[in-house]
Amino acid sequence: MRIAVIGTGYVGLVSGACFSEFGTSVVCVDKDASKIERINRGEMPIYEPGLDDLVARNVKEGRLEFSTDLAASVKGVDAVFIAVGTPSRRGDGHADLSYVFAAAEEIAKALDGYAAIVTKSTVPVGTGRKVAEVVMKARPDLELGRDFDVVSNPEFLREGSAIEDFMRPDRVVVGTLDGATRGREVMRALYRPLALIEKPVLFTALETAEVIKYAANCFLATKITFINEMANLCEQVGADVQDVAKGIGLDNRIGNKFLHAGPGYGGSCFPKDCLALVKTARDAGAPIRIVESVIEVNEGRKVDMARRIVDALGGDAKGKRVGLLGLTFKPNTDDMRDSPSLAIVPALLEAGASIRAYDPEGMHEAQKLLSGIEYAADAYDALKDADVLVFCTEWNQFRSLDWTRVRQAMPGRIIVDLRNIYDPTRVAREGFTYHSIGRKAAI
Ligand code: NAD
Repeated sequence: MRIAVIGTGYVGLVSGACFSEFGTSVVCVDKDASKIERINRGEMPIYEPGLDDLVARNVKEGRLEFSTDLAASVKGVDAVFIAVGTPSRRGDGHADLSYVFAAAEEIAKALDGYAAIVTKSTVPVGTGRKVAEVVMKARPDLELGRDFDVVSNPEFLREGSAIEDFMRPDRVVVGTLDGATRGREVMRALYRPLALIEKPVLFTALETAEVIKYAANCFLATKITFINEMANLCEQVGADVQDVAKGIGLDNRIGNKFLHAGPGYGGSCFPKDCLALVKTARDAGAPIRIVESVIEVNEGRKVDMARRIVDALGGDAKGKRVGLLGLTFKPNTDDMRDSPSLAIVPALLEAGASIRAYDPEGMHEAQKLLSGIEYAADAYDALKDADVLVFCTEWNQFRSLDWTRVRQAMPGRIIVDLRNIYDPTRVAREGFTYHSIGRKAAI
């Protein structure tokens, strides 16, 4: 089988590389020539554990190639995956579908035989049918179901464990129109190697698949927001949110994932997907009030995190030095999109603090988005002269700091841990005043 993947970002590059690993011939296309040049030099444009080796191996074995030429790349393929970005549209929060439709039009113009046109980008319900319209408008000679099918195949991978998630998914969702027999066959064949390890491919209607992706992301964002509000309650009543999470998570109906209280969800998906679902639902006359609240609570939470840090400094951050560890929205990625740090850092600067930050992979991206702060060479360097140490992201390398070195680096003895990395009693024993999320200071 041969496929083209349009858009070589987190999703396109990982999916393309993984499909090639399963023996499919893959060409990954991006209109960003510098990105393609870098990949062809063997440099990954994103940080994702294991990706460089996976790409190098499949390129070497001739199953994976990269191109900027979309028209040439879709010739003779069984399927074209659209994996371009769908950011929030400025103003109304709706997903910006201009990249998806532009790619669909280009694909249509270049098609020279049957192909399934598969939307892997996260797109609001109804987009698949619009893609079919765009294709037929660009190529009136093409007939839906005969010359092409439109397929929705949303992606559920997580940055930081994207390869494992793609290769061993909990499920693969494939949505098609009625009568898209060929489209379903192509998808079944492409995912057959995964099905060998007994992972279900769920075939649904086109619209259903599109809704599933948003329902999944918004449900997870709701779960995070729920436990964050429980953490607030725990702080007021002397309970421990970690134990609450454990206590409810052991119930199989609830599950133990996404119950880690913290500074609020971020990243390239949850914030924009919640906004887009709210917009879609309102337009459809079926508002989803729970997700509307989730968005509001989460936005407020990020700002509240800065307030907590100022409170820990005695209520005044003017002239105080903050050593900040972690900038990305979660560990094992360099993705800074909608990271809580993007709200916390400006609020601290506004309050008069100065910030020295370190992140193992995110500093290159952070420097484009966060000015007015110093970037450190490593974790201890970030703490130089600090009054307070703030943990913003729970990278592995921050999980067992050498307390002697911490004490030597920073004159302050205050820690604000927004990720509950440490045991309050242990840190208190090291001589620090320790503030965390939803837990008592020290026992
Ligand atoms: P990204 O911004 O990292 O990559 C998108 C790429 O598409 C860019 O490199 C851009 O240059 C390219 N592109 C845009 N238009 C193009 C065109 N016409 N031709 C060729 N290339 C084009 O985006 P991403 O994070 O990979 O996300 C892609 C989609 O997948 C989004 O809809 C997102 O919501 C969804 N998604 C993302 C994740 C994630 O963890 N990042 C997970 C699941 C789903």
